Amino acid sequence: MGYSLPVWVQIPPPAHTLVWRDLYECRAALARGEITLIHVVDELYQNIEKKEPVVHAFLALAEREKLILGAKGKESTVFLGLPIAIKDNICTTEFPTTCGSRLLAHYRSPFAATAVVRLLAAGAQVQGKTNLDEFAMGSSTEHSAFGPTRNPWDWERVPGGSSGGSAAAVAAGEALAALGSDTGGSVRQPAALCGVVGLRPTYGLVSRYGLVAFASSLDTIGPITRSVRDAALILSVIAGPDPRDSTSLSSPAQNYLEGLRPNLSGLRLGLPREYVPVELGPVALALIRGWCDRAAELGAEVLEISLPLTEYALPAYYLIASAEAAANLARYDGVRYTLRAPAQTAMEMIAQSRTLGFGPEVKRRIALGTFALSAGYYDQYYGKAQRVRTLIAREFQAAFEKVDLIIGPTSPTPAFRIGEKVDPLSMYLSDLFTIPAALAGLPAISIPAGTVENLPFGLQLIGPRLSEKTLLSAAWAFEEALRA
Ligand code: GLN
Repeated sequence: MGYSLPVWVQIPPPAHTLVWRDLYECRAALARGEITLIHVVDELYQNIEKKEPVVHAFLALAEREKLILGAKGKESTVFLGLPIAIKDNICTTEFPTTCGSRLLAHYRSPFAATAVVRLLAAGAQVQGKTNLDEFAMGSSTEHSAFGPTRNPWDWERVPGGSSGGSAAAVAAGEALAALGSDTGGSVRQPAALCGVVGLRPTYGLVSRYGLVAFASSLDTIGPITRSVRDAALILSVIAGPDPRDSTSLSSPAQNYLEGLRPNLSGLRLGLPREYVPVELGPVALALIRGWCDRAAELGAEVLEISLPLTEYALPAYYLIASAEAAANLARYDGVRYTLRAPAQTAMEMIAQSRTLGFGPEVKRRIALGTFALSAGYYDQYYGKAQRVRTLIAREFQAAFEKVDLIIGPTSPTPAFRIGEKVDPLSMYLSDLFTIPAALAGLPAISIPAGTVENLPFGLQLIGPRLSEKTLLSAAWAFEEALRA
């Protein structure tokens, strides 16, 4: 296989540390005149030169010189010309938007996503487009038509997915921060596996305009960053209503950096029994117990709770997400946007273009989704999954009457080996803890919180709808405490 490492790039992965300069700090140092943008860009591009041949986080990358020139005139903006990497299912006008699919290999969007427009308006620059599982379907970034991304901590392992390129770029020091998308966990799980921060906002808080649709009722855009305050900063810029997305909420954007508290006093944290099954193993379980002790020291009350419907979340998600995907992906017909296969008739052209263009995982989802929506089975599968979704949302609502936030692991395991999960179900199981919040439209964040088998392990906090301020504040308190 093409997976073995060329000897000339045997460079050690990053030290196991949670502390290094984040975007917030770079911005402050730039504003104070201590460093220039050239320093920052040089550091990123030195890491790119060293690691990118192996890590393969980017599908397209801006020239170093272009970023330096592009920063001119941005001296009084929020981001001061700093570059941010964008997952390649989020439209930008500067680069192609491929969605990791052969079908869209040459697609260039005529418009940029609202989240990108807002970053640019705040003085950021697009650093490049990051690798992903095709159409964001996957948990390992192995399903990209352009080859896998590797985990910067261990090159034989996956970075998680589907925003694996974004998470790996940030973890490898190749990017300061990135945007990802989270349908069932694709921001949080790769962040956890790469030892960085990943925030899934409340559904509708960040416009989906320009995010290529996978499962429209679940899709969100969220930041992947080196620190919690970076996630807060980016969210403050990209959140808020957008007339171009009818599902965007009317709640105005807030300054999420305001009110970050260094403690958890007065907060009740719920640890669901279902999120700490014995299968996690003694090391992870001890780590989670340690988080709870730490939370208590920081002033929180930690309560054991139960979310018994958790076991139904995964099947409900795979029915709903695949049904929506089957409908959304019907637009790739070889006529518009995409690769077109030569054929005699229109039907043959459509079938051939899709056959050649889509990879096996995408085809699996389209087949599953089409079946779930078919006349005789609609109620038995799709209808039932929707009812389960409602019950899961209610179960969370009830839990949030007793606790302010829910705490648990982001992913059941640290990064697994490339090629290890061959059957789809074992891959789907890595989303066990991220999917329930996604089904309920809730915000959730993953922060690095220790290691298991010498690999990063993520702590997930889930909050009620629009609780981003509390969520980020609690995550920040944990980050500070775990760093100390
Ligand atoms: N891994 C999940 C899936 O494959 C979630 C993907 C995502 O959030 N985009 O559907």
